Amino acid sequence: MDGDFDLIVVGGGSGGLAGAFRAAEHGARVALLEPGDLGGTCVNAGCVPKKAMWLAAEVGRKVGLAATLGFDTQGCRLDWLVFIAHRQRYIANIHASYRRRLDDAGIALLPVRGRLEDERTVACSDGVRLRAPRILLATGGHALKPRIPGAALGGTSDDFFGWTSAPERVAIVGGGYVGVELAGVLQALGSRVAMYVRKPRVLDSFDAELVGQLVEDYRQAGVQVHLSTSVAAVERDRGGFVVVDDRGGRSGPVDQVLFATGRAPNTADLGLEAAGVACDDRGHVVVDDGQATSTPGVFAVGDVGTDLPLTPVAIAAARRLMDRLFGGVDRRMDRDAIPTVVFSHPPIGRVGLDEAGARERHGDDVQVLRAGFRPMLHALADSPQRSLFKVVCVGKARRVVGIHLMGEAADEILQGFAVALRMGATLDDLHDTVAIHPTSAEEVVLMR
Ligand SMILES: Cc1cc2nc3c(=O)[nH]c(=O)nc-3n(C[C@H](O)[C@H](O)[C@H](O)COP(=O)(O)OP(=O)(O)OC[C@H]3O[C@@H](n4cnc5c(N)ncnc54)[C@H](O)[C@@H]3O)c2cc1C
Repeated sequence: MDGDFDLIVVGGGSGGLAGAFRAAEHGARVALLEPGDLGGTCVNAGCVPKKAMWLAAEVGRKVGLAATLGFDTQGCRLDWLVFIAHRQRYIANIHASYRRRLDDAGIALLPVRGRLEDERTVACSDGVRLRAPRILLATGGHALKPRIPGAALGGTSDDFFGWTSAPERVAIVGGGYVGVELAGVLQALGSRVAMYVRKPRVLDSFDAELVGQLVEDYRQAGVQVHLSTSVAAVERDRGGFVVVDDRGGRSGPVDQVLFATGRAPNTADLGLEAAGVACDDRGHVVVDDGQATSTPGVFAVGDVGTDLPLTPVAIAAARRLMDRLFGGVDRRMDRDAIPTVVFSHPPIGRVGLDEAGARERHGDDVQVLRAGFRPMLHALADSPQRSLFKVVCVGKARRVVGIHLMGEAADEILQGFAVALRMGATLDDLHDTVAIHPTSAEEVVLMR
C-alpha cells in the first residue's frame, strides 16, 4: 500500500476522527485505524455516557426539589435499565453518524491496531503495512489502578459504565474530575458514597474557595469526603469490600470500589522507539505547540500527548494541525484560555487564571471580584445549595484574565464568557453588558 495515503491516523477517538475529517476536507487521502468503537474514550467511556449519567442525576435532584415545591413525586424512581437503553441508543447514533461521514469523506477505515515500524510505516494487526509521508498518533489513554493490595477488587470508570444499578454503598478513590463526577452522580442516584482523596483537597487545578464550597455541598448531600487519606489496600469482607487507609484505618463495607486514580497514555506496543518518537517520564508522547513529535512527519494529538486531556483540546489541536499540513494555513491552538468544566453537582468551571496564577504573571495589580448567592430554584425550595462566582482582573484597565464559576448552570454559562475573556474583555465591558434577569449568569456582569 506504499504511497496510497497522504496521512495515516492511528486511533479513531476525538482527536483522530477530527484530524482525519479535516485532512480529507483539504483533499488528503486518509487511512484511519481504529480497532474499537468509533469515538474512543469520549463517546464510549467518557464525556458522553458520563454526561448522560450526570443528566439522569440532575433530573433526580430536581425531582427532590419538586417534591418540596408541591409536586406529587411519590413512586418516582429511576429504572437504570431503561435509562441505559436510551444512553446506548444515543451512542449508537453517534457511531452510525461517524461511519456515514467517514464514507462520505472517502476515508479508509481499518478496524485494526497500528504500530509504527519506522517514521513512515505503520504495521496493522491484520498483517497489512501502510506507508504515508505523515502519521498522526491519536491513541488516547486508559484508566490506571493504584499498585496496592486488593486493587483487582475495584473497578474504574470503564466498569462504572457497565453497571445496571446504583450500588447501595460505594467507595471512590481519587479526587480528580472523574472521582468528583462519579461521586456526585452516584450520590444523586441513591448510593451512599465515600470518597478517599490523597491530597488535602479535590480538583487541585480549580479555585480553592469554590472547591471548598463544592466539598461542603457534597458533604451536605451525604457524601463522606475523606481528604488527605491514601488508600493502602482493599480487602474482601463478608459484607462486601473494606477500604484500608495508610494509617491503618478501615472503613466499609461497601458493595463497590471505584478507582479514579488517573490515566496513562496508550503508548505500549505503538512502536515509538522504532520510529524514534520521544516520550516524557510518564509515557506521554512529547509534542511541540504544533503537535510535532521528535520524529519529522509523525504528529500526536489528544491524551497520548502532553496536552490537557479534554476532547475539545484534542479536536482543536487535530484540526489546526491538518489546516497547516494540508490546507496551507498556519493555525495553532491558544492554550492560555481553555475553558473547562467538571460535571459535579453543582458543576464547577474555570477559564484563564486564578488569583495566584494572575499574581505570578501580572504582579500585584490583581483584583478579584466574587458573588455568592442562592440560585432561585434552590431559594424557592429552601435548599441550602449556593453558587459562588469569581472574576479575576488585572491592571488599570481591569482586563479579565480568569472566570471561575461553581453553581447551577455554570457548565452552560462559562462558554460565552470564555469568548469574552479571549477577546480581551475588561470589567467595564462586563458591567456595560445589560444583564439577563433573573438568571445566575447575570451575576457575572453585575459583580462589583
Ligand atoms: C470518565 C471520563 C469522563 C470524561 N469526561 C470528559 C468531559 O466531560 N469533557 C471532556 O472534554 N473530556 C472528558 N474526558 C476526556 C476525554 O474523553 C479525552 O480527553 C478524549 O477522549 C481524548 O481523545 P483522544 O483522541 O486523545 O483519545 P481517545 O478518545 O481515547 O481515542 C483513542 C482511540 O485510539 C484507539 N487506539 C488505541 N491504541 C491504538 C492502536 N495501537 N491502533 C489503533 N487505534 C488505537 C482506541 O481504541 C481509541 O478509540 C473524559 C474521560 C473520562 C475517562
